[in-house]
Amino acid sequence: MSATYPHSDHEHDHDHEGSARDLIALLNGVDEFTHHVFPDNKALFESLAHSQSPHTLFVTCADSRVSPEMITQTQPGELFVCRNIGNIVPAYGEMLGGVSAVVEFAVMALNVEQIVICGHTDCGAMKGLASGAAATAGMPTVQTWLRNAEAARGVVLARHADQDTPQDALVQSLVEENVRLQLVHLRTHPAVAARIAEGRLALQGWVYDIGHGRISVLDDEGSRFETLEQARERLMNKARS
Ligand code: ZN
Repeated sequence: MSATYPHSDHEHDHDHEGSARDLIALLNGVDEFTHHVFPDNKALFESLAHSQSPHTLFVTCADSRVSPEMITQTQPGELFVCRNIGNIVPAYGEMLGGVSAVVEFAVMALNVEQIVICGHTDCGAMKGLASGAAATAGMPTVQTWLRNAEAARGVVLARHADQDTPQDALVQSLVEENVRLQLVHLRTHPAVAARIAEGRLALQGWVYDIGHGRISVLDDEGSRFETLEQARERLMNKARS
């Protein structure tokens, strides 16, 4: 599949003319897909026409700069993706709904082998959380949703209580702590807990660095984020033993 992405000279016009142009651009993109990308990958799409067997549930932020398939260089059919503001998985029993249903379905029906929770640098949700209620004023639904990350905020504020930590460092800590917290929440889901107990499911936490095109990976103990090279080494040693 083509890995190049056309550079768009798209501008954000919020008038009617602008939104019509944006919609036409989307349709042009689909046209390109239907007539070029699709025929070039016909066998793949035919094999996917009636079933899917993704190996990974990928939970990430709705942020437009995070592109799961591009970052992981995966094909359609490989990732079952769940996106929301702040890559949040409410603990089981809290806000049972879209995310919990995705988790349950991915594990029980699709038998995914791993779940990745992927946070990212410069996350608007984490920035909003770091700067308090004023940042999300007028957005009661967002505020309610972000309560599912409140414990991460508590940890970060406690850790930095005595220091004059710059705001962007606080946000980065929050991005990382939120990934840890959502992994904890994930384990409260009965389907996830059962599959982990059977040794059939692995969880991993990532942070995607938008400005550098890199990911860091939370180690097995959940204590620190490793480089991709360190994480790969660790997993290869585990696979050998
Ligand atoms: Zn985000």
